[in-house]
Amino acid sequence: MNITTAENDIEYIMFSEERIKKRVAELGEELTEMYKDSVPIFGCVLKGASVFYTDLVRSYKGPMFMDFISVSSYGQAAKSSGTVSFKKDFDNDLKGKDVIIVEDIVDSGLTLKYLKELLRQRDIKSVRTIALLNKYECHPQELDTDLFGFKIENQFVVGYGLDYAGYYRNLPYIGVLKKSVYE
Ligand code: 5GP
Repeated sequence: MNITTAENDIEYIMFSEERIKKRVAELGEELTEMYKDSVPIFGCVLKGASVFYTDLVRSYKGPMFMDFISVSSYGQAAKSSGTVSFKKDFDNDLKGKDVIIVEDIVDSGLTLKYLKELLRQRDIKSVRTIALLNKYECHPQELDTDLFGFKIENQFVVGYGLDYAGYYRNLPYIGVLKKSVYE
């Protein structure tokens, strides 16, 4: 691991702060319209989705509840471990509720598949999934989220909640990490 500063370690900025802000506002508007007759629970998948989540819920205009779940498939690496480990469950009873699962990025789709299976056992009224980023080449199309911010190619990105070994989550933009940092 060769972490120095973001100026050194980021190859280039893929999505600027302004661009993310605009897209998140659009997604918030879309969800506001979709759930105008409901009080949905927004379920944040910790920790990667946390920054996206807090912006998204503030661009959502209707009544809603917040909840948090924690799972992990990457550990300290820049590659998925291939298994999902479960760390923290939602606090709310989701029975009969409209649930929106908020993810940072869909890569292999393993995490999403795991979450959907978990929720299927809970007698939920409806479930929708939203991810800021969609690595569309890395998973079968049926594992796409219902909504997403941007499609990206298969590169390792950090910032705006996304980390490498816990670093860079606080960057206000999304950037591609130099391979020399993690190889
Ligand atoms: P999946 O289960 O779809 O393979 O991966 C989902 C999780 O892996 C994401 O929620 C995210 O935490 C992590 N992940 C996947 N791709 C990237 C990436 O490019 N950068 C970072 N920082 N994390 C990623």
